[in-house]
Amino acid sequence: MPSVDADIAVVGLGAMGACALWRLAARGTDVIGFERFDPGHPWGSTHGSTRLFRTACKEHPALVPLAQTSLGLWRKLEEASARPLLDITGGLMIGAPDTPVVAGTLAAAATYDLPVRTLAAAEVTDRFPQHAHLPDHHMAVWDPLSGVVRPEAGVRAAVSAAQEAGATVYPRTDVSGIDLVAGGVLIRTAARDFRVRQAVVTTGPWLGKLVPELPLEPVRTPMTWFDARDDPASFELKRFPVFIRTLPDGTGIWGHGAVDGHPSKVGLSDDPSLPVIDPDQCDRAISPADYRLLSEIVTAALPGLHPHPVRTTTCMITRSPDGQFQVGRPHHDPRLVVGGGGSGHAFKHATGIGELLARIACDEAPFLELDVVDPNRFLR
Ligand SMILES: Cc1cc2nc3c(=O)[nH]c(=O)nc-3n(C[C@H](O)[C@H](O)[C@H](O)COP(=O)(O)OP(=O)(O)OC[C@H]3O[C@@H](n4cnc5c(N)ncnc54)[C@H](O)[C@@H]3O)c2cc1C
Repeated sequence: MPSVDADIAVVGLGAMGACALWRLAARGTDVIGFERFDPGHPWGSTHGSTRLFRTACKEHPALVPLAQTSLGLWRKLEEASARPLLDITGGLMIGAPDTPVVAGTLAAAATYDLPVRTLAAAEVTDRFPQHAHLPDHHMAVWDPLSGVVRPEAGVRAAVSAAQEAGATVYPRTDVSGIDLVAGGVLIRTAARDFRVRQAVVTTGPWLGKLVPELPLEPVRTPMTWFDARDDPASFELKRFPVFIRTLPDGTGIWGHGAVDGHPSKVGLSDDPSLPVIDPDQCDRAISPADYRLLSEIVTAALPGLHPHPVRTTTCMITRSPDGQFQVGRPHHDPRLVVGGGGSGHAFKHATGIGELLARIACDEAPFLELDVVDPNRFLR
């Protein structure tokens, strides 16, 4: 390839891309980043003030080292940005003993000898009376290294840290195509084409538009916040910490107490019946149909909250067929690295995924068993 604009381009500066840009720039890599909006915007998958952070990852024990690496990097990013990004308060994973939320959390904790504790249903309602109507045979796992992490602030902090370390950022720049050419990649934008040696593509719900062979399914998800009825203090984050709860009928809810001036946030776990959407056509309007079921659940399971949400927004989850991420080099091509398929649980890991993407791009040893997240598991 003739002269290049940079060694590496990161396309899409949301959660994964902003952190990849930071970790690449922190190594002294010659890196540029493209974002079609402004970093920290509300149109992708990374907005809505908070995300749950968990260390005993119910989704797969192999994610524990990713969460641990992420935790350290969130702290480093907090230092660099002088902003609080992660509040560790502990968290409850509630359900019947054989539900994925309980059994998966315990399996992850056992694999890495994490200091979780189990609580019987009566202990849960005694210590956390906000949670009503737990059947006697349900239980909770207390993960002391759980909490909330701040998405918009996290993305902005990572982009700023990357710029301070030397990265060049092109905001409000839509990448219309990525052409793999001899010895490198052409990044197509309306203003001009950019030549780089390799591209790290992290366009979230839009990843399938630039790398169409990856099996990715974007879905629209509402986000909802609820006021406390008459005891706001008991619904502050410290007293009503993050939780994931599987109800007796198998429906899942997640949430946490009030933080940063926003009231308690409660949502439904990803519903497999949600239709796959074109992310460019995501319906941003929220109607009562979006939260009718959740309002019924809040009435019964969290009766100290008003069941009508006081704040709402829409977001998008990008599913992978197996619910794990897609982080790696499709077909082992030295010109391309992808990060996506967050499947509703990637934000907590964004700093760790950014580090992993940087290691893959720089041919350094990974700190994680890559098979679980390798996109080639779908391309063989
Ligand atoms: C309701 C909800 C709740 C969630 N809860 C949790 C949780 O509690 N804990 C957790 O860990 N995770 C959670 N997640 C998941 C997590 O938020 C996502 O997995 C993560 O934020 C995805 O990051 P991303 O970088 O893949 O996508 P994004 O952050 O959306 O980044 C993609 C970026 O690429 C840009 N882009 C797209 N196309 C182009 C283009 N052509 N040119 C230039 N730029 C482009 C976009 O504008 C965007 O900024 C939740 C998600 C939702 C929707």
